[in-house]
Amino acid sequence: MSITITQGESSVATEHKLEYVTSCELPMPWATFQLHVFIDHASDKEHLALTLGAVNDGEPVLARVHSECLTGDTLFSQRCDCGAQLEGALQRIAAEGRGTILYLRQEGRGIGLINKIRAYHIQDEGADTVEANQQLGFAADLRDYNLCESMLEHLDITTLRLMTNNPRKVAALQEIGITVVERIPLILNRNPFNTRYLDTKAAKLGHLLPMDGLKRNTDDN
Ligand SMILES: [Zn+2]
Repeated sequence: MSITITQGESSVATEHKLEYVTSCELPMPWATFQLHVFIDHASDKEHLALTLGAVNDGEPVLARVHSECLTGDTLFSQRCDCGAQLEGALQRIAAEGRGTILYLRQEGRGIGLINKIRAYHIQDEGADTVEANQQLGFAADLRDYNLCESMLEHLDITTLRLMTNNPRKVAALQEIGITVVERIPLILNRNPFNTRYLDTKAAKLGHLLPMDGLKRNTDDN
């Protein structure tokens, strides 16, 4: 069971155990990955891990911890950089022949799909991504990386080379006992539709991204 207690802009979660269910082969355009499915009985959400190669040999594992973004990952939305980051991470893992992607079903930085689209509506009228979440009564980021603990334990992974622009994600993983030996930037798909979003991630959420334009305002993965 897990209870998330919101404290300002951050969240603290209690222990969060997922149950491993099963695995299968998943042929993808870049390689045939193994797909592992886990269930979180506290929320009834399924969470996924993709692995390629021997990830349980004790060596650091090239990894991405990716939170679901239905609009970006499956509908090719250009409002954010999630789909490009997911594809870039899959390509890089395939090129190295070894790695993992943890795909966490926490849509919209944890606020869910309907609220994310409500937030997009507010952004269409001028707010940035953080202001929009706050107008809806949510903290800027409600994601819970404790979800990773049982998944990595099951996969026998303790050390990562993490593909992310988000130092908070590195810190959150280190808090659950995962060693991050390297942070690998994933700077992809800046376009006219997501420039403000990316700048707001850099200015307000601490993401390490080159800022564009003079206006320092921004979502994330
Ligand atoms: Zn997205």
